[in-house]
Amino acid sequence: MFCDLHMHSTASDGTDPPESLPTLAKDAGLAAIALTDHDTAAGLPACADAASRVGIAFVPGIELSADPRVAASLSETDAPGIPATGTLHILGYFIRHDDPQLAKLEGWLREARAQRNPQIVSRLNQLGVKIDYDDVIELAGGRVVGRPHIAQVLVRKGYVKSIHEAFVRYLGEGAAAHVRKDRLAADRAIDAIHHAGGLAMLAHPVQLRLPRPAALEHLVARLKDLGLDGIETRHCDHSARDTAHFEDLANRFDLLTTGGSDYHGSRKTCRLNDSRVPYSAYEALLGAHTARAAG
Ligand code: AMP
Ligand code: ZN
Ligand code: FE
Ligand code: FE
Repeated sequence: MFCDLHMHSTASDGTDPPESLPTLAKDAGLAAIALTDHDTAAGLPACADAASRVGIAFVPGIELSADPRVAASLSETDAPGIPATGTLHILGYFIRHDDPQLAKLEGWLREARAQRNPQIVSRLNQLGVKIDYDDVIELAGGRVVGRPHIAQVLVRKGYVKSIHEAFVRYLGEGAAAHVRKDRLAADRAIDAIHHAGGLAMLAHPVQLRLPRPAALEHLVARLKDLGLDGIETRHCDHSARDTAHFEDLANRFDLLTTGGSDYHGSRKTCRLNDSRVPYSAYEALLGAHTARAAG
């Protein structure tokens, strides 16, 4: 039996509505799923309802973008030369979707997007890439608007052939129209997830793009001090070697593990259940959540 504890819906930058995911997941051979939209819990009630109708275990989740400079802020002697770049995402599991503090944070994060996205579009315009921010908002359906929506407009207008090419040429780190937004301190992300009753997990560590294994080790130690509960060891972007490395790290730091496909429907190539996460990972997380809720 398998679970997939990382996926996105139309509430953020996936292409399937939250109420459709449980059926798709069941068809993909899954027994448990987590919906983890970027910076919003808006899709959780609809997905939870559909999951109970379909008969699949459901974890209400979220994925928060945090400031990767938590790595760079480590002491130079402990971990010299850790870059302040890369992607730091924190997954929250078993959150209360209507927690007021989390809702406030979500609003703040959407505001950060509303500031950044037009900057990306104006950089594109300066580069001669003529797209309209209104087209991006329309495509996103007025919810959490992200770079994948901008990427899709670039494809539609014929400026690039694929979403991947849009990130390589324009939107990704180091590319011509890249603008940072993720300035939420990691401890605030972890605290907000805990406050909403959830477990906080470090998502896809490869995306941090840390130069050495020792750097990740220092970061994990630091995040654990801040309350981190676990690591996403299986992910679409992880090789078998990455997964083994992260499982070892989780073991040594006494952290939970999770995994998923990071399914985004047609906006990414990973399919549901690609990461083949054993159902026991879900059971361990549920056990930890239940124990915490009781204690
Ligand atoms: P944002 O939160 O708006 O900055 O967008 C981040 C999202 O863009 C990630 O969660 C991925 O879904 C997507 N993304 C990042 N890099 C790539 C890439 N190279 N190809 C496709 N999607 C990507
Ligand atoms: Zn995404
Ligand atoms: Fe992510
Ligand atoms: Fe994700």
